Amino acid sequence: MIEETSILIIYTGGTIGMIADKETGALVPFNFDNINNQIPELKRFNFTLDFHCFEPIMDSSNMDPVVWIELGQIIKKNYEDYDGFVILHGSDTMAYTASAMSFILENLNKPVVFTGSQLPLGVLRTDGRENLITSIEIAAAKDDDTPIVPEVCVYFENHLMRANRSTKYNAENFNAFVSGNLPLLADVGIYIKYNRNIILKPNFKKLKVHEKMVTGVAVLKLFPGISKEFIIAFFKIVGLKGVVMESFGSGNAPSEPWFVNAIEEAIDLGVVILNVTQCITGAVEHGKYETSVLLEKAGVIGGGDITTEAALTKLMYLFGKGIEREDVAKLLRKSLRGELTIN
Ligand code: ASP
Repeated sequence: MIEETSILIIYTGGTIGMIADKETGALVPFNFDNINNQIPELKRFNFTLDFHCFEPIMDSSNMDPVVWIELGQIIKKNYEDYDGFVILHGSDTMAYTASAMSFILENLNKPVVFTGSQLPLGVLRTDGRENLITSIEIAAAKDDDTPIVPEVCVYFENHLMRANRSTKYNAENFNAFVSGNLPLLADVGIYIKYNRNIILKPNFKKLKVHEKMVTGVAVLKLFPGISKEFIIAFFKIVGLKGVVMESFGSGNAPSEPWFVNAIEEAIDLGVVILNVTQCITGAVEHGKYETSVLLEKAGVIGGGDITTEAALTKLMYLFGKGIEREDVAKLLRKSLRGELTIN
């Protein structure tokens, strides 16, 4: 007997699951038990679609590592029973959750596709219908019984991106996400054109779900005029273990002695500092300008072309492993889930 394809759809919250209340007109979450009334096209898939709805559902601004681990546990529990997973999530922090899941799920050999929408499913002009239907198709897609996209990814408005390369860059357009440093995993039009050279290959090892993320991590966005007081106060944060420093251009920061000293002192005290660029495209290159030579000398780690979302969640994941600081630093320089271009 040929087994039927089965997809688990997990609704965490966000705009996609909203409809207008008949009486008040206000947006309220709809009951996923009635999803077939909402999107009758789903009945046309000739495979099993099951739903898991978060209770309570969340606006993605309230997402945190505890929920990411819960999501990992749901996937772990259902991993053998489904061919793929579609996660419906608010778009605002989707790139963070999706990046985190790419680290939490080691040896992933099945698709985990994040999607959402800018307009609720219950609105006539919604982008949610197409996003959901195509995400299901991608989660189910196989070549000779092997999933075509066995990795965590984000699908939004015709673009399939590696999760840990995606960033939300537009608060209004249907085309809300960008993958600034990696070509798309698939371009969707009449056909779904998979970019097979870029998509990660399955390793057929057993799934390992990491269930610890450490939160003593913060993002420091540099800006012209940043003050000594601000920097000193920042590095006094109790329990600070890791910092994603968003610097200018190809990794540049103020070269003033008070700034460099503050960085050196923090590193001496054991804080790991990862330098990422504020630009959407391009990479940190320590040594290109004198300003970044000072950072390298101080012991700052160059983050290459990693996104802030991936950098932050990678630090949380690495500290969660309970490994030594030197090993965290070593692994930050490696690409663990395709989050970094190694030349
Ligand atoms: N505020 C919503 C959220 O991120 C927006 C959306 O779903 O796109 O949860």
